[in-house]
Amino acid sequence: MLDSNYLIINRHPQKFSEMRIAGKTAVFMGSDGKVLDFGVLALGSSVYAALYCDEVQNITFVTDKGGAQDVVTVLWLKEEDYVRALSALKDVLRMHFSPQNKKLNRYAEAVAEKLALGVKLRITDAVNTADMVECPECGMLNPAGSQYCLDCGAEIG
Ligand SMILES: [Zn+2]
Repeated sequence: MLDSNYLIINRHPQKFSEMRIAGKTAVFMGSDGKVLDFGVLALGSSVYAALYCDEVQNITFVTDKGGAQDVVTVLWLKEEDYVRALSALKDVLRMHFSPQNKKLNRYAEAVAEKLALGVKLRITDAVNTADMVECPECGMLNPAGSQYCLDCGAEIG
């Protein structure tokens, strides 16, 4: 069980107490009221994918800034904070938020790796499994018609 909200940037976790939205920016503050290191997230065109998982109260962004990719994850301790944050972020970032399962972060990292290689992906909603094909090797859900698994690279027959 979580003991706090967490802001995790490229697997580096920091606890935070509060997220505030100012214009097109989300700002994350610690319990001392100060902005965290890298605690300012620009909600603009650099956000390539917006993903979330209700089950683990996780909102994750994959950003792509001129060839540099980041995976920014926000984990919420309390459901009401998660629900409010998701709604507020959707209001600011007018793009499709893709519902995911518990493998959200592996998926986000796989997306970032593909972007680094110059491959643009269609982001899929893992909860709409009718449109997905399961990897026989690792169980990752991949978009229907995929030749190779996004996660482990296995051939999907
Ligand atoms: Zn796989």
